Amino acid sequence: MSRYDAIVAGAGFSGAVMAERLASQLGWRVLVLEQRNHIAGNCHDQYDDAGILIHTYGPHIFHTRHAAVWNYLSQFTEWRRYEHRVLGEVDGELIPIPFNLTSLRRCFSAPQASRLEEKLVAAYGRDARVPILELRRSNDDDLKSLADFIYEKVFVNYTAKQWGCRPDEISADVSARVPVVVSEDDRYFQDPYQGIPVQGYSALIGRMLDQPGIDVALDTALRQRVTISAPDILLDGKPFAGSLIYTGMVDELFDYRLGELPYRSLQFRFETLDIPQFQPVATVNFPNAPGLTRITEFKQLTGQVSERTTIVREYPQAYDRHDETRNVPYYPVFTEENRQRYQRYADLVKTIPGLQCLGRLGEYRYLNMDDAVANALERFAALEVSR
Ligand code: FAD
Ligand code: UDP
Repeated sequence: MSRYDAIVAGAGFSGAVMAERLASQLGWRVLVLEQRNHIAGNCHDQYDDAGILIHTYGPHIFHTRHAAVWNYLSQFTEWRRYEHRVLGEVDGELIPIPFNLTSLRRCFSAPQASRLEEKLVAAYGRDARVPILELRRSNDDDLKSLADFIYEKVFVNYTAKQWGCRPDEISADVSARVPVVVSEDDRYFQDPYQGIPVQGYSALIGRMLDQPGIDVALDTALRQRVTISAPDILLDGKPFAGSLIYTGMVDELFDYRLGELPYRSLQFRFETLDIPQFQPVATVNFPNAPGLTRITEFKQLTGQVSERTTIVREYPQAYDRHDETRNVPYYPVFTEENRQRYQRYADLVKTIPGLQCLGRLGEYRYLNMDDAVANALERFAALEVSR
């Protein structure tokens, strides 16, 4: 008999929630295997040489409409209340993103803006949040040309850089994350609960994993300890009868036998400057600059006070598992073809009793942090019921 009841591969939010719940609620002994040299997955943060708390894998802002998720995480952290605001550089001007009524007034003359505003309100209602692909289907000529303007200036080039395709070539859910807003609300997210963990995400996830019954092995990829020999799972060469929860890439788990699932990667370029503040808001998007999509200034997220500041520039790129400079799979690519290929892997997962795949990579889904937590809490509840 193994001394563990469950193995969790990956110490990001998905893996940490499962490990924490299994240990604290069921008294299970859980072995967490993490291939990186740190916990917290892509939400990892750390202090840089200038003493600024930076997000290693790109800026992370927590937001949720789920009280249960907020309350659950609040056991492990206090929050800095923070509402994210983004400006986008369009024709040399900084305008609110998502494109809202203030953006409209910045981009058009007063009479034009007020006519378009009236039409937007009549068609969709005040405070509506209209996906750009829906606005482009408007039958009204003025709204149609407004949609084309926003599509061209805000979406088409940004999306080409981020995803390597046009907005209508990937799932409509992707561009709908940043809708056209028929109000002056300039917040990036409208969720009732928004914030940044006061001591950071690594500290939050560290507390989740710091439970009796949980052992964490860093620098340890699943395959170093576990072999899947369908339908059996072996831990250190011996049959393992417990649960295996895997939060890495599902195609990698099966040695790509049904083909590779495509991902997008990112290159982050960090820079520390000897000035207290670099830009007017935490994130500025550059839809039309070559290569670059956005710049984020960490102090504006964390509220840290310092004479220096650290920023990160993001350059999207294709994922290539053979190339060290682009081998972090940040985003699954949401096309119908890829979804079907993922489904074939999901069917394979079902043939191995005890195996569950979870998280952004394990389920090949665009999960925000709160989705990842909600999803893992649901998975835990289902597992608890099925025992
Ligand atoms: P991950 O965080 O990717 O964790 C998976 C872990 O598994 C990793 O640590 C990995 O090393 C490990 N692993 C993989 N394979 C193996 C293996 N074979 N063996 C052992 N370990 C393995 N969400 C928000 O809510 N707000 C934001 O502002 C936000 N910004 C984002 C910005 C960027 C640039 C990106 C890429 C994502 C952003 N997200 C944001 C999403 C957020 O990062 C995810 O929701 C979250 O990280 C999902 O957690 P996870 O545990 O499923 O995956
Ligand atoms: N998007 C865009 N221009 C912008 C902001 C977003 O075209 O200025 C599109 C782009 O396709 C992007 C998607 O909307 O991938 C979702 O944006 P979000 O900011 O949610 O992306 P994330 O923070 O997850 O990278």
